[in-house]
Amino acid sequence: MWRDLEPIGRDGGSGGYRRFAWTREDATLREWFVAEAERRGLDVTTDRVGNQWVWWGDPDAALAAGRPGVVTGSHLDSVPDGGAFDGPLGVVSAFAALDTLRDKGFEPDRPIGIVNFVDEEGARFGVACAGSRVLTGAMTADRARSLTDADGVSMAEALGAAGRDPAELGPDAETVRRVGTFVELHVEQGRHLSTLDEDVPVAVGSDIWPHGRWRLRTLGEANHAGTTRLEDREDAMLGFAAAVIAARRAAETHGCVATVGKVAVTPGGVNAIPSEVTGWLDARGADEAAVRRVVADVTEVVEEFGGLVVEDSWTGSTPFDPGLARRLATRLGGIPVIGTGAGHDAGILANAGVPTAMLFVRNPTGISHSPEEFATSEDCLAGVDALATVLADLAGGDAT
Ligand SMILES: [Zn+2]
Repeated sequence: MWRDLEPIGRDGGSGGYRRFAWTREDATLREWFVAEAERRGLDVTTDRVGNQWVWWGDPDAALAAGRPGVVTGSHLDSVPDGGAFDGPLGVVSAFAALDTLRDKGFEPDRPIGIVNFVDEEGARFGVACAGSRVLTGAMTADRARSLTDADGVSMAEALGAAGRDPAELGPDAETVRRVGTFVELHVEQGRHLSTLDEDVPVAVGSDIWPHGRWRLRTLGEANHAGTTRLEDREDAMLGFAAAVIAARRAAETHGCVATVGKVAVTPGGVNAIPSEVTGWLDARGADEAAVRRVVADVTEVVEEFGGLVVEDSWTGSTPFDPGLARRLATRLGGIPVIGTGAGHDAGILANAGVPTAMLFVRNPTGISHSPEEFATSEDCLAGVDALATVLADLAGGDAT
């Protein structure tokens, strides 16, 4: 499975992946998902949003009998120049864990599902976890349809081009109800496991840190870079630069992380004084109040320069089901339970009231959202084993 996925959407220059929602690459990945299901004699259903679901067993009959299904899976899309593991590891491991259980003759009491969430990274339309947000009603269909990509193509138009009816888009309670429990396996996006003294390839997730995005905007006056005396300038970049430095300092002071990774400069000429700079601040931390303090410090600096800070999105702390996390950690031999600063569809489902857990597979460098992202095959297989154990436990039947 890994080898089949490897070339899809890979950039020949950087070696990174460019797999964006509702593109040709995405269509190829979706076809791969259907083929893997069919190879196992299982059907794929697609919900109103375009998320793909495979069921081993009948989820509706089980639900009627009071035994809702156990779902695992992740996403197949990527950030620009993303790594191979973020997302696909969870989907491939889901199929591999299902194979493991079937090879052992396991007969589940509850149906087991595998999901491919569409548009998790939000790389094209700017909103992360769009597939699970619309599914659960956390984002309205109208807002989703009106989001546009860098070329001005709306999500509605992209859906149409991909052969889907944009009017179909909307919350899908019937699909969500089938998910009694959700377990997402994901590559670790940090170095916690590799810094431990013992050899621990897999951890259980405890919570997702509070995180948000803010737009920082500073204003100046466009003028000639050669003929305008320094004392006559109104340079929007100076205030913006001060804000970026302030963000780093504030993050250090308040024990958070802060990033300005995207900037737009007007007029954007090498020999022109900037009249306007807009940049996006991403701030996260274990403690909500601390993240708010970082943003307050940055806002103070931006306003000192006559600029403006606007909140684009905010997601509070998302705890996963603590009882479920304990059960998984115990079942897997007392492995660590760790928090994460990265957002996931699992967080959206948890916020929608679905008992949710995550498994993290060790990443030796901690690098993610980059072609350097990595996990050893040995650790990936340990992840598959852990997932199979957890599915067997949660889906009942003969434990393996
Ligand atoms: Zn991911």
